[in-house]
Amino acid sequence: MRKMLTLVGGGTMVVKEGAGLSEIARILNTIPKMKGDRAQIWGQAEFIVLHATPHPWGPGGKTILASWVYGDSPSIGAAVTRFNQWTQKIPTRLIINRSVDKRGAEHIQPDVEIQGEEGLAAWMLWRWYFWGDHRNRLKRCPQCRKWFVDRTRNGSMVRCSTACTNKWWTLDRRQKAGHDVPGSTRNAKRRVTP
Ligand SMILES: [Zn+2]
Repeated sequence: MRKMLTLVGGGTMVVKEGAGLSEIARILNTIPKMKGDRAQIWGQAEFIVLHATPHPWGPGGKTILASWVYGDSPSIGAAVTRFNQWTQKIPTRLIINRSVDKRGAEHIQPDVEIQGEEGLAAWMLWRWYFWGDHRNRLKRCPQCRKWFVDRTRNGSMVRCSTACTNKWWTLDRRQKAGHDVPGSTRNAKRRVTP
């Protein structure tokens, strides 16, 4: 499904309707390849999302799943302030488009008039990130730093893939977390001590 957004001064821009968070993740992951204004605009968007995203790792590397799943980030206030400052300078207007199909039936579609890439980026965050109830599902993998959407039932995914989870649990972290590590003297000792 595609959705048309009307541009200030004429023309339209097509976005994938319903792509939502995964579309934001996809675009954020292409920032390193972007140039000029585009890089700056989406860098701004990423900065905002980063502040609004609860971080899964508490002090000492312990996961803080409760706040990750249920709450907004402690720094969401900074994200909100930054978003509102940013959008102050972006002209946006709510409009309704009318069209008539081949059979002569009239259809209307709510639309928003936006300005360029910056308008699009702000609209996407507003509509798909802040408006929705699932923004905490948009996460950044602490291992490979890619953005991804957590589609698990309980929303407890911390890294983007099994590969990244395996890399994350290096020998060192495993030992610190008290996991059973083959060949580890620390664990070998512990095993014989009741
Ligand atoms: Zn990853």
